Amino acid sequence: MSANMVALAYLIAAVLIILALKGLSSPESSRRGNLFGMIGMLIAVLVTLQLPGVQNYAWILGALAVGAVAGGSVARKIPMTHMPQLVAFMHSLVGLAAVLIAVSAVYDPAAYGIAADDGGLHLASRIELFLGTFIGAITFTASLVAFAKLQGLLSGTPVTFKGQHFVNLMLGIVMMIAGIVFCIDPSWSSFLLMLAIALVLGVLLIIPIGGADMPVIVSMLNSYSGWAAAGIGFTLGNNMLIIAGALVGSSGAILSYIMCKAMNRSLFNVLLGGFGGQASTVGGAATVGDRPVQAGAAEDAAFLLKNARSVIIVPGYGLAVARAQHALKEVVDSLIASGVNVKFAIHPVAGRMPGHMNVLLAEADVPYDIVYEMDEINPEFSDTDVALVLGANDVVNPAAKTDSSSPIYGMPILEVTKANHVLVVKRSLSVGYAGLDNDLFYMDKTMMLFDDAKKACETILHAID
Ligand code: NDP
Repeated sequence: MSANMVALAYLIAAVLIILALKGLSSPESSRRGNLFGMIGMLIAVLVTLQLPGVQNYAWILGALAVGAVAGGSVARKIPMTHMPQLVAFMHSLVGLAAVLIAVSAVYDPAAYGIAADDGGLHLASRIELFLGTFIGAITFTASLVAFAKLQGLLSGTPVTFKGQHFVNLMLGIVMMIAGIVFCIDPSWSSFLLMLAIALVLGVLLIIPIGGADMPVIVSMLNSYSGWAAAGIGFTLGNNMLIIAGALVGSSGAILSYIMCKAMNRSLFNVLLGGFGGQASTVGGAATVGDRPVQAGAAEDAAFLLKNARSVIIVPGYGLAVARAQHALKEVVDSLIASGVNVKFAIHPVAGRMPGHMNVLLAEADVPYDIVYEMDEINPEFSDTDVALVLGANDVVNPAAKTDSSSPIYGMPILEVTKANHVLVVKRSLSVGYAGLDNDLFYMDKTMMLFDDAKKACETILHAID
């Protein structure tokens, strides 16, 4: 393939990947977006495989086979609720790949076609390798820690120690100095020192982050992995990798910004690993169950719902755990058939990953035009008969608005307390991800239905029909 044809094919792949991102911005077009992304990536891989620098197909095909089998079987088995840790693990692999490529490029620049006349590295390559290596190394270890926290292998509670930010700052400075020394006069000692510090920094930056900040971290690591890939794209002189890496890097950064706004966290604070100490408490010492609540049966819930003019459903993580989306859709169909106006309210951090609830509702064929984002739906609660909170907790916790001592104070919430009645379906009074008790459960207008979300939907449906 001529260089022009390669450039053209890469351009087409890049456009397809941009169309993929555009498609993914709305549930209606997300399937098409995924398809564009897959075709773009296939073109990029095939074109790259026939580049003159690619010589050993046995290794590449072997790696492809191992990756395809491992990725395929994990993707088939993984429950939706474990997606965030899978995504974090994937980011760690991108970081590791960036580091390994950088190490081998430093070891043998000629193999990558980047050797200077004396066999060493040009200044530009050294700078690219420095950037790709330290971003990749931080991404690698930070993602592994995020994975371990989300998987429950490590406690989600923030780990802090005295002088933490000073230690991080000093390590960051020493890492930068080692990197600059490597750029001026490349040697293994400066390169490996920079790499080792970056690996340690990745761990130190994530351990103080817990609770409600985790979604931002997952999308931030997504962004880091993109920049690491882009940095290595410069080293390899591969435009496709630069473009794809930059797209992942910038879209991840934009998503992080949106998530920060949704959770009222500052991006600076999150980026520096809890800088300023707003750490929240996962599984904290909230006291639950010591106040009276009004508990009802499925029949009471069915009566309330059937006789309402309008119902807004707030799905949360419990919906995903119970896999209740299909049963819920049947309840919704039945209510709509009885003339009830039903809408869904989606909080930006409901569930355990961005878009989690949208994916579940799309899976159950809930029409997109009754699914509303938080800002659109919040003004409607005051004019709504019943707010049905299904497996959600933190995203409807009024403490975010009323209790300035709460770790989630300032986080925008779905304002279900403004509805005439609130019906909460969950199994107990247990806390949600942020580990906080929720006053909503104890309000006069709230009725609790203690059950698994799927079972509750099934019994409510039975009682409605
Ligand atoms: P929460 O984690 O606040 O609460 C979920 C509730 O679901 C629990 O209180 C639990 O109560 C209930 N539940 C669990 N299993 C079931 C079941 N089978 N049937 C019915 N209920 C069940 O969820 P939210 O969606 O309200 O909030 C998301 C939280 O996760 C936020 O704190 C957010 O910051 C965080 N987060 C979000 C991420 C994202 O990207 N969206 C990523 C990582 C964290 P019980 O045990 O009593 O049933």
